[in-house]
Amino acid sequence: MTGRERDTASGDGGVDDELARPFDVPDGSGRRVAVVGAGAVGLTAAADLATAGASVTVYERGDVGAGSSGRAAGVLYDAYAEDVDARMGARALARFRAFDGERGFSVTPCPYVFLAHESDERTGDAIAETAGRMRVHGRDVTTTDGDGLRDRFGDALRTADVGTAAVAAGAMWTDPASYVAATAARAREAGVEIRTDTEVGVRTDPPGVVRDGAVTERYDAVLVAAGAHTGRMLADAGVSLATKPYRVQALVSRRRYDGPICYDATEGAYFRPHPEGLLAGDGTETVAADPDAWDRAGDDWFVADATAVLEARAGHDADVARAWAGLCTATPDRKPLLGAVADGVYVATGWHGHGFMWSPASGEAVAAAMLGGDALPDAFDPRRFDGSEEFEVVEGMAVE
Ligand SMILES: Cc1cc2nc3c(=O)[nH]c(=O)nc-3n(C[C@H](O)[C@H](O)[C@H](O)COP(=O)(O)OP(=O)(O)OC[C@H]3O[C@@H](n4cnc5c(N)ncnc54)[C@H](O)[C@@H]3O)c2cc1C
Repeated sequence: MTGRERDTASGDGGVDDELARPFDVPDGSGRRVAVVGAGAVGLTAAADLATAGASVTVYERGDVGAGSSGRAAGVLYDAYAEDVDARMGARALARFRAFDGERGFSVTPCPYVFLAHESDERTGDAIAETAGRMRVHGRDVTTTDGDGLRDRFGDALRTADVGTAAVAAGAMWTDPASYVAATAARAREAGVEIRTDTEVGVRTDPPGVVRDGAVTERYDAVLVAAGAHTGRMLADAGVSLATKPYRVQALVSRRRYDGPICYDATEGAYFRPHPEGLLAGDGTETVAADPDAWDRAGDDWFVADATAVLEARAGHDADVARAWAGLCTATPDRKPLLGAVADGVYVATGWHGHGFMWSPASGEAVAAAMLGGDALPDAFDPRRFDGSEEFEVVEGMAVE
């Protein structure tokens, strides 16, 4: 650490980390469970439910990872200020580390820098304040400034205009598709049947899935982890959820970048090393998207904005190989909807851009609750809203 760093880190977020303890998933023998959606969340839950002895069927309208999980950026960090978020982040990262090297999945440790421009004092103050709260949870987060970043990362970042910054040491990046594939393999090994190309609806009383619009298959419990489609599916079953899908974007540049993961909070853009060079993202459209009709290609304005940030922040002359969009899901309070919406019917959505990095924890947590183990956090209870709320979509990584 350098003398310019204003606060020092505490805790190591390592194996003795109390926040990273497992959720208790009790014996599920004799229970029949359906999971709708073969994304990172649904597959993690399915694998954990089956490992606990439940008989699990996953229904997926496309292929494994066809939704947002196959389009995510793979940024993983445990830098959260609120208790409940810190718990999810810590548990998720502990599991990602535990899965490293298994079934073709790997993580690459890489510090996560989040910064504000000197001219943006409001965001700088928010970074300093939230970093302090992250340290209360034992997260290894250091508050610093532009000079401190230069001392630590050299020329990888351009820091002359940086006011306040923080560095989370426990972060990592990965290829999200490899997590989905490895988790699907783990699920199948545990006995899960994954039915791809099988679009279903859901029934709440009794819990079940509806196939071909007519045949209901009954289960003891159903988990709807259908990503951006979750709200619409539940609405068809008479349950109104406070969630909106919205579009975000990413690109890959072929030019090499070896610096830290960086989130420029003033610009609202992030980038990380990538096997082909660099991955950059954001391009959030803060309006509700139609989950059945949205543009999958990256917008020209996003590519132009992102390449300008890369040049200014990292001296990176982007050579864009591809740019794409995907859907995230928003809620009125930026907390997920994770819990029961009816007897035996559970929902998992509303991740605000953290859905992939939390998935090893959220899948395990909802599996635990479905089998009568650890209760889910009240803060995530989907029934805290009645679904009629008016709210604005807010960008997922925003520091406030
Ligand atoms: C460009 C981009 C970058 C992102 N970067 C990150 C990041 O760095 N870190 C992070 O944590 N998050 C990131 N996210 C968010 C992340 O991708 C999502 O929060 C996460 O993947 C959600 O996982 P899921 O399993 O809930 O949903 P999904 O992966 O969307 O899975 C839902 C599945 O349900 C299926 N389905 C839908 N309806 C039905 C139906 N009726 N019947 C059967 N199946 C159905 C879909 O086909 C889909 O496969 C990013 C998102 C995008 C678009």
